[in-house]
Amino acid sequence: MTEDTPSGRTRQLPLFCCPYCGDEELTPHGDRGEWHCAACLRTFTVRLTGTGVQHP
Ligand SMILES: [Zn+2]
Repeated sequence: MTEDTPSGRTRQLPLFCCPYCGDEELTPHGDRGEWHCAACLRTFTVRLTGTGVQHP
């Protein structure tokens, strides 16, 4: 992986399967990191909610 985003880790990795139906026909949608599933026709985003680092 190359780090070519100086503003931080804002770039998303490609998804490999739909979190709703499990299909693998995902295509990028829009310019906000959205994904479109061709199987269930859902459009969704994936958001990072934690890094595993324990905060006191
Ligand atoms: Zn789906």
